[in-house]
Formats: sequence, C-alpha cells, structure tokens
Amino acid sequence: MTETVTNWAGNITYSAKELHRPRSLDALRALVADSARVRVLGSGHSFNEIAEPGADGVLLSLADLPAGVDVDTAARTVRVGGGVRYAELARQVHARGLALPNMASLPHISVAGSVATGTHGSGVGNGSLAAAVREVELVTASGAVETIGRGDARFGGAVTSLGALGVVTALTLDLEPAFEVEQHVFTELPLDGLDAATFETVVSAAYSVSLFTDWRAPGFRQVWLKRRTDQPLPDFPWAAPATEKMHPVPGMPAVNCTEQFGVAGPWHERLPHFRAEFTPSSGVELQSEYLMPRRYAVDMLSAVDAIRDTIAPVLQTCEVRTVAADEQWLSPAHGRDTVAAHFTWVEDTAAVLPVVRRLEEALAGFEARPHWGKVFTTPPATLRDLYPRLGDFRALARSLDPAGTFTNAFVRAVLEG
Ligand SMILES: Cc1cc2nc3c(=O)[nH]c(=O)nc-3n(C[C@H](O)[C@H](O)[C@H](O)COP(=O)(O)OP(=O)(O)OC[C@H]3O[C@@H](n4cnc5c(N)ncnc54)[C@H](O)[C@@H]3O)c2cc1C
Repeated sequence: MTETVTNWAGNITYSAKELHRPRSLDALRALVADSARVRVLGSGHSFNEIAEPGADGVLLSLADLPAGVDVDTAARTVRVGGGVRYAELARQVHARGLALPNMASLPHISVAGSVATGTHGSGVGNGSLAAAVREVELVTASGAVETIGRGDARFGGAVTSLGALGVVTALTLDLEPAFEVEQHVFTELPLDGLDAATFETVVSAAYSVSLFTDWRAPGFRQVWLKRRTDQPLPDFPWAAPATEKMHPVPGMPAVNCTEQFGVAGPWHERLPHFRAEFTPSSGVELQSEYLMPRRYAVDMLSAVDAIRDTIAPVLQTCEVRTVAADEQWLSPAHGRDTVAAHFTWVEDTAAVLPVVRRLEEALAGFEARPHWGKVFTTPPATLRDLYPRLGDFRALARSLDPAGTFTNAFVRAVLEG
C-alpha cells in the first residue's frame, strides 16, 4: 500500500511509502527490531523534517496503540501512552481533580512529540512541557523496553530527545491540584518606554503572559494574561482592556479561541489559546521560534523592530512568551530563564525562508536557540555552540542506539554537523 503522509501544515511530505500503525506493544517491538531505520510521527505538528525517516526508513504512528491515560491520584502523577494528545490527557486529568502545570497554545499536539521538541507555553515560573515529565519508557532499536526516570544520570537527555533515542511508548508526568484560570486581553502595548524592568513586570503580571504583534507598527497589538484564580488580580496599567473577543491573528474570528473577558474556567480550557473542540486538520501557515536568555528581551525586541518592514509582509502574528530554565540537555530553555519569540508566517516557504534568514541574522547576538519543531536555518555549528550538553546527548544516543536506527538527516546534522 502506498499513501502520502504529510505533516499538519502540509509543507513536508514524508518519503516513507506507508505510515505503520502497530496495534500492540509486541507488534511495535517486533517492527522496530526488524527495521534498520525508524522515526515516529506524533500528531505531525512540526514544520520541518525532524520526523522524516528517509526513503528506506519506517515511519511509525502510535495512534492505534491502546491509548493509556492512568492517573495516580495519591501520587499526583499520570502515565500517558506515547500517542496521546494533550486535549485527551487534560480531560482525564481534570476529571480526577488534578492539573498539568502548563499547556501549549494548541491542545491537539501529542505529548510525546511535544516534549521531544521542547514545546512550551508561557510564564516566568513555568518550565517547558518537558519539565513535568518524571519518567520515560522507550522501545530501543533491539525491541527492548528501557525506562529512564529522574535520578537516572541519563534523564537529562531522555525527554527532549528529538525522537533520537527510541520509540517513546509512555511518559509519567507530575500533576498538581486542579486550578481555575481567567483570561484577560489588553490591546496596544507600546514598545517605547519598555525597559528591562517594565518588561519583567509585564511578563510577570500573571501565571502565563503572551504578547502578540503583527510588526506592522511598533509595539504589541495584544497582551493575553492568564491568571490563576488562586493568585492576585493583575494590575495592568500599560495597555487598555480589549472591548471584543480577540484572535491572535488580526482579522481572524475569535470563535475558536479560549474564553476571555475574565470568565474563570478549568486550567485546560484557558491555558491553550485555542479550544480543544475546534480541530484544525491542516494549517495554512508556517512557524518559526527562537528562545533566548530573558535578559536580552528588550534589545531583542528592538532588533526585530528594526527589520519589521521585512518581517511584516509574510507574517500572520508574532507571539512573545517566557519559559523558566529547565534541565533537559537539548531543551531550548536549558539552563536559562528564557524569552521566546514566535512567528506564524504565511504558508509560502519560498517567501518565508529569506525572511527567516534575515531574522536569524538580527538575532545573532542573542544566543538564539531555534524551536526544534519549527522552520529554521541556523547552521549545525552554531547549534552546537548553543547547547553545552550536546556532547552528553550524543554519547547517550550512541549508547542506546549504537546502529543509529533512530537517527535521520535532521538529527545527524544537529549531532555531527
Ligand atoms: C498550530 C500549532 C501550534 C503550536 N503551538 C506551540 C506552542 O504553543 N508552543 C510550542 O513550543 N510549540 C508549539 N507548536 C509546535 C509543536 O508543539 C511541536 O512541533 C511538537 O513537536 C508537536 O508535537 P507532534 O506530536 O505533532 O510532533 P511531530 O511533528 O509528530 O514529531 C515531533 C518529533 O517528536 C518525535 N516523536 C513524536 N512522538 C514520538 C514518540 N512517541 N516516540 C519518539 N519520538 C516521537 C518525532 O519523531 C519528531 O522528531 C505548535 C505547532 C502548531 C502546528
């Protein structure tokens, strides 16, 4: 059987002739043990060739495995299968009175694929989604099952692993008691006068803060504050409250966005920007994102503002978020409290790529680590300088996967150059 398999955005067509969907762990282990080259496709929401197995490789989906979500209420943990998406996980966790600490903008992405690429939400006190993971279960190249938990010397490489260590069949995550969040949107936050201290105050005004702009004019068009109702009400004198419900892309209908105007609701219905009930099967967009030490935030914004005439024509929206430092060796937030500048581009690779290169030049002085799942052209040599523990990750990949079964061109470029 030959089928065409693409990513969600449709800008990548995988060269594999078939998407294998094993129905049991034993079938998965046998398939892996019999294959020279394997990559897993999660929910396909990455924008580059990170999941590409190569023409002779096997592309694998875990979507047909029994979708385990096992909540341990007493331990406040959940063990989640390798194919499960955040929307389903969050629904079940919330039903047990518990919560994940944070979510990304979209709940439709898979948990394993998200933590593999360092996916994050926002909040000065919130680590990337990988920071909630306490244990990883992998099927390695021989078909053996390996478990790596916190406390294991290999754990720093095991979660944000770019899919290079094996098939992640389950993850165990930390939970906390369920909480409520209300979302307040403000409009027109000027860049003028935004010094480092004010930036810190703005991004610390709530549990999770996102700043949006189209760069057609200086400053931010929207500010989204997600306040936990068990934390103080934000005082936000820098911008005016929105008078209508907003979508992050100017002009788009806000009907698919999570509730705004300070209406309190469950954490998983407010932390993402988009509603779980709205399932976009494909996306008319490309994305890039760069994660930098937060101390650079104001200078970085000035550098992007200086080239906004180049950026704006191919941009749908830009979102600035914060991520707390984490300890995953390949996490773009590894070892540094982070400011993340995200760009949703138009769906036109030829027009977008030169702008991405120009943007990367503008960000060159800010130790910008690209999001592993998005469009970037950062050279491998630069990536290696940006990740002090890359050598440890390379050694871990070689020890778990000596024949390179889970390596692809993307991973090879990162690890070997
Ligand atoms: C609309 C949209 C919104 C987004 N919002 C955010 C956001 O708010 N924050 C953010 O940081 N990113 C965001 N992203 C990026 C997205 O989170 C990442 O691309 C993430 O990797 C998507 O997960 P996935 O399962 O779809 O990944 P895929 O593209 O399917 O896979 C990503 C990587 O994970 C590997 N992988 C997947 N599952 C497994 C497994 N079980 N075992 C081993 N390896 C595996 C794949 O091989 C690949 O290397 C967004 C993307 C889209 C399209």
